[in-house]
Formats: sequence, C-alpha cells, structure tokens
Amino acid sequence: MRLNGKVALVTGANSGIGQAIAKRFAEEGAHVAVNYLAGGSRDEAAKETVGSLATEGMGAPADVSKRADVESMVNSILQKFGRIDIVVNNAGVEVKKPFVDITDEDWQFVLGVNLTGAFVVAQTVVRQLLKQGGGGKVINISSVHEDVPFPGYAPYCTSKGGMRMLMRNMALELAPSGINVNNIAPGAIATPINQAVLNDPVAAANAISEIPWGRFGKPEDVAAVAVFLASDEAGYVTGSTYYVDGGLVQQVTKY
Ligand code: NAP
Repeated sequence: MRLNGKVALVTGANSGIGQAIAKRFAEEGAHVAVNYLAGGSRDEAAKETVGSLATEGMGAPADVSKRADVESMVNSILQKFGRIDIVVNNAGVEVKKPFVDITDEDWQFVLGVNLTGAFVVAQTVVRQLLKQGGGGKVINISSVHEDVPFPGYAPYCTSKGGMRMLMRNMALELAPSGINVNNIAPGAIATPINQAVLNDPVAAANAISEIPWGRFGKPEDVAAVAVFLASDEAGYVTGSTYYVDGGLVQQVTKY
C-alpha cells in the first residue's frame, strides 16, 4: 500500500474524478476527508462516498471559495486524524458562454471556486504542513485547458492557467520544506461535468475523434496518477504538470 497511514483531503470528492481519487487513496491505505459542497442530494452522495472507502474517512463539507469554511474544515480534519499529509484541489466548475456575454458573476463564480478555492485550500493545508514538519504533497486537478485555449470557456481556461502558475510558484517556495506541488491535467474524462456531451451520441463521437487514444478517460485513469504524485515515490517530482488525456493535447497542437 503506497499511502499507508497518510491523511488526505480531496476537494469536490462526492462525484467524478474527486470521488475516484478518494476511493483509490483509501485503497492505498490513506484516511480521506471527502470535501463537498453541502446541501440536498450532495450530502447523500458524500455520505455514500465516505461509506464506500476502504479505510476510515470523514465527510468534510465546505465551499472551497470561502476561507472561513475552509479553515473550519481543516480544523475538523485535524480534530479527527491529528494531522494532514496530502491535499488534492479537485473541486471545479465551468460556465460556457461567448466571451462578450460573460457576466461579472460568471467570472467570479468560476475563478472563485477553481483558482481562489485552490489557493485558499492549499494555503490553509500548507500552513499546517509547515507546523507539522516533514513535508507533504499538494496536487491540483487542472485541465489540458491550463495550456490550451477553448472558445466559449474563457473563465475556466483562465482559472486553470492561473492554477498552473500558482503550482509552479508554490513548488519553488515550498521545495526547501519538502512539500511537492504538481498539477494533473485531465483531457476529456467521463464524469458529470461532461454529461451533456456524453448524452449526445454525435457530440460524443466528435469528441472521441479528437482523442488519439480513441475513448474518453475514466476517473480512475486520473486517480492512478494522483496516487503516484501523493506517494513517497514522487519525492523528487515537483513543479510539473502531468497530462492524463489519451494524447489529446498533442492532437490539438497539430492544428
Ligand atoms: P464533477 O463531477 O462535476 O466534480 C466537480 C466537483 O466539485 C463536484 O463534486 C462539485 O460539487 C464540486 N464543487 C463545485 N463547487 C464547489 C465548491 N465551491 N466547494 C466544494 N466543492 C465544489 O466533475 P469532474 O469532471 O469530476 O471535475 C473534477 C475536476 O476535474 C474539476 O476541477 C474539473 O475542472 C477537472 N477536469 C475535468 C475534466 C473532465 O473532462 N471531466 C477535464 C479536465 C479537468 P457539485 O457538483 O455538487 O456542485
């Protein structure tokens, strides 16, 4: 088991990629705090996720874009498990609109969750890692759109591009403290965020035709790389982005 006895926080972990990472981390021996945005069916999904983990876990409700929520979530993790070793900034949202129609609310919403959320969660956890000593791991789930523009998704691409630079700065500042900071950039993964495309056979076939590997990725494909980056084996890996995209980025750059 590659994460035996570690304590991990995974944000947005009651569905999709975050849920797969939480489950895989637990299979590797970690205790996992499953963050989720509280309310309605989300609470039930979080409860089911925690119940499905192979180790003792916990639900950790918080809106990642709100510092007070994040601080109280991290305190509750410390109360239960006494420490924290790994954080995965996975919570993310998108708004599809032409650039000229984007409202201030759209912009603040996407940047607030994807970029400010990653900053606030990482900063709160890193302060604890520094108190503990002994290093730790920060992993951001960005996107191929941390690098590749996507018409109709300016706030999303901006947030993920910002995540790339945040990760690179953090990697340099935190290297002397033994804290590894890396991004995972998924391509098109079959999760609820892509439900509209997955439900439309023509759109799905079009998307697949852009992917050299010939299929959508699975959340487990992303989780496998997250386990590596969270493990001791990635001790000398920092400041990098790992693409999990079936070759999508290489295809896009052909044009
Ligand atoms: P998903 O199933 O929609 O997961 C996103 C999660 O983030 C959901 O659980 C969502 O909760 C949660 N979330 C949203 N706002 C939050 C907030 N303020 N505080 C806490 N949690 C919040 O989609 P996914 O595909 O697994 O996405 C996970 C990450 O991968 C995202 O950052 C996304 O940008 C990235 N990604 C996905 C793909 C892909 O093709 N699927 C590709 C590249 C990158 P609710 O749904 O309950 O609001």
